[in-house]
Amino acid sequence: MDYFHIMEYIHIFGIYTMGMNFERIKQKLTILADAAKYDVSCASSGSKRTNDQKGLGDSSGMGICHSYTEDGRCVSLLKILLTNHCIYDCAYCVTRRSNDVQRAAFKIQEVVDLTIHFYRRNYIEGLFLSSGIFKSPDHTMERLVAVAKKLRLEERFNGYIHLKSIPGCSDELMYEAGLYADRLSVNIEIPTVSGLKLLAPEKNHADFTKPMRKVQQEIQKYRNEHKIIRSTPKYAPAGQSTQMIIGATGETDKDIMYSAAHYYTQYQMKRVYYSGYVPISEDARLPSLGSQVPMLRENRLYQTDWLLRFYGFSVQEIVSEEHPNLDMDVDPNLSWALRNLHHFPVDVNTAEKQLLVRVPGLGLKSVHKILHARRFRNLDWDHLKKIGVALSRAKYFLVCASRHHDHKDRQASQIKALILQNSSGKFRSTYSDQLSLFQ
Ligand code: SF4
Repeated sequence: MDYFHIMEYIHIFGIYTMGMNFERIKQKLTILADAAKYDVSCASSGSKRTNDQKGLGDSSGMGICHSYTEDGRCVSLLKILLTNHCIYDCAYCVTRRSNDVQRAAFKIQEVVDLTIHFYRRNYIEGLFLSSGIFKSPDHTMERLVAVAKKLRLEERFNGYIHLKSIPGCSDELMYEAGLYADRLSVNIEIPTVSGLKLLAPEKNHADFTKPMRKVQQEIQKYRNEHKIIRSTPKYAPAGQSTQMIIGATGETDKDIMYSAAHYYTQYQMKRVYYSGYVPISEDARLPSLGSQVPMLRENRLYQTDWLLRFYGFSVQEIVSEEHPNLDMDVDPNLSWALRNLHHFPVDVNTAEKQLLVRVPGLGLKSVHKILHARRFRNLDWDHLKKIGVALSRAKYFLVCASRHHDHKDRQASQIKALILQNSSGKFRSTYSDQLSLFQ
């Protein structure tokens, strides 16, 4: 649900019926839903919380379907800040203390009431609650935890809750947060320690990694206990995630990908999100992008994220000293294939799965279908087309049972030109323009 729908619903149903001051809540929502839109790490899959018939709602393991605002931000949950007051002055942040913006703060009970009323009316499927840091990290985290605790224990709310963890807060509060939230996240924000020092010198890298480590250890501990005692309660069942801002500092894609790989392996992150830097603050330390948001770069990083997590690629294969940044004109899988033509063409009827998934134009689903279908017959172009293979790309990297195939001894640059030339408008638009989310 997007912010405008929230406002519409408030208007139609009149929150004053909940004993709230309608105008005051409306004003707070205007400020605090708007301030939360820059956080993109709100995907909600991976949690299953069932209703025992005594509580309200449930959250399904299938995940929540999101909607997106015009600038591509995900806002499907009730996504708000508890407050946009902040004692810090991070250069890239709209909430930074030196910014002259309208400030507001919700009371704990107000967030609880909003969540319950929206949920009951089926407007939302859960809560995504973040906050600026007011007074101290512990003071803020205590209030975030209090919202989740009230929802779970007093309202018996079983919907999805994602809490942002406040960098620098105590282990005790992090522990408590995981008892009530489905997902926890600490936004690392800037991918490298040097970048963080430059744009947020009041913060320490350890302020981010300490709560991450605590959550990782508790999740593991609870999992181990669950194997012995089935009734062990859930602890952050949807795991933890983090977010990095892309383009606010001079990191290469290689730096970013190594950093993401580090958080996946060292802290067992469920997801690392990327958020293209939005030039919302004036600061000499920030790059000048005009009004352009590096969305295409963000998109390419998400594509590499999939290659690393599901397609068996390693970071070294995608970026290197000689090739530190991702190609913007073609996706990272095609880019890798063009730089490694010696692996191709592969025979679709005999190649190992690990090699098939690396063929541009073959998704995991197509590969599974191919593996199944080739047990019964030798596959040709027609079969592959029916399976749903994107032949406009795959045909340069495959051979099959058809007598005429499209692989000749072409140079990488020729294949690339042919693919771009023959691709659909959407794919071709990435060559010269920013990819539109709304085409
Ligand atoms: S601590 Fe968080 S909310 Fe405060 S200025 Fe930094 S990034 Fe923004």
